Amino acid sequence: MAEIKRLSESRDLTRIERIGAHSHIRGIGLDSSMEARDVSEGMVGQQPARKAAGLILKLIRDGKIAGRAILIAGQPGTGKTAIAMALAKSLGQETPFASMSASELFSLELSKTEALAQAFRRAIGVRIKEEAEIIEGEMIEALNKEKVQSGDVVALDKASGKVTKLGRSIGRSRDYDAVGPHTKFVRCPDGELQKRKEVVHCVTLHEIDVINSRTQGFLALFTGDTGEIRAEVREQIDTKVGEWREEGKAEIIPGVLFIDEVHMLDIECFSFLNRALENEMAPILVIATNRGITNIRGTNYKSPHGIPPDFLDRLLIITTQPYSEEEIRKILDIRCDEEEVEMSNDAKVLLTKIGVETSLRYAIHLITAAALACQKRKGKIVEIDDISRVYGLFLDVKRSTQYLMEYQSQYMFNEVPDEGDADE
Ligand code: ATP
Repeated sequence: MAEIKRLSESRDLTRIERIGAHSHIRGIGLDSSMEARDVSEGMVGQQPARKAAGLILKLIRDGKIAGRAILIAGQPGTGKTAIAMALAKSLGQETPFASMSASELFSLELSKTEALAQAFRRAIGVRIKEEAEIIEGEMIEALNKEKVQSGDVVALDKASGKVTKLGRSIGRSRDYDAVGPHTKFVRCPDGELQKRKEVVHCVTLHEIDVINSRTQGFLALFTGDTGEIRAEVREQIDTKVGEWREEGKAEIIPGVLFIDEVHMLDIECFSFLNRALENEMAPILVIATNRGITNIRGTNYKSPHGIPPDFLDRLLIITTQPYSEEEIRKILDIRCDEEEVEMSNDAKVLLTKIGVETSLRYAIHLITAAALACQKRKGKIVEIDDISRVYGLFLDVKRSTQYLMEYQSQYMFNEVPDEGDADE
């Protein structure tokens, strides 16, 4: 690597915002005395955990969190990921949030510690200020000729003046920085090109790593095929970022790294985490589990949550509780708004019942499916029948296991008795 790639080149990744499982969450939703509001910033209920998250937010802001991590213990679907994400959002809209499940580490081609290193660096933001060149004349013509609009993701090659549309940002309208490997312009929703002197980029250390370590550059970020990143690449990048910070050109934004199913990590991973938390750029580590006392992977010892004692020592622990029917209803209301799905009250009552009987997540999934069923019959409002239809089409876990148990004997994969068994 001759030189760390130009910032404008590392800016080729445009945030694509879409309606994801947690896109309705905008913050922890606390009032001025740090109490959790009933419903606020997309968050519902779970007050004690949210209040604790508020105190953690204060610790972070006061710079007192170093070396510690947060454990959220709670049953599936009780908002553990949601709270971690809310923490990141409350820290600032630019705060990176990276989430992974510990079980992913065992299915990747990368070594476990490399995958963890990448996850850490996905959760460390770099805010870079750069002087932007003013785009005039031919460049503007080229953009206009291609009918580049607010929300388009484009690459602009300044040498040839060629504009390539890469796609659209799927999401809500908001001020939008259209960027490509060679672009430095901003197109606002009113369609006017803004000429700016200073442009602020927010990228993660992982994005800078990938762009500098692979010939295919930024595309690897989309395919996820980033491969192993050499230690010397990371060292050079850290040095360079350190220089930018000294020159006042860059700022580090520690984000939030959420690792679910943390009992799946083995002893080697925990020692990696212990070391990584000591780094001055370390993100806020939030881990979650729904296990009580269990085996520490890679050892013969049992411990609380399968976490080794030295790591347990670092933890601030909060718990999440199952939701009440009313809370499930409120979360479903928020999700309907988020997905822009209009639903009748009766349908919502039924969906809430389903949420109580099965799981919150299953009920949330049914919103999208029911909206499609409604669309198919050319309806505008999701009705009770749409919910029933998709409830029949898509099984929840309880029904699917019941179904398989009833028909188990007819399936090919039913265990065939071992021939040897007969002799014994
Ligand atoms: P798992 O342990 O299975 O990973 P989890 O505890 O992390 O589950 P989430 O994924 O956070 O649960 O919650 C399931 C869904 O419900 C998500 O779409 C999440 O955004 C939403 N949700 C959960 N809790 C809340 C809440 N308190 N307010 C608003 N939305 C919530």
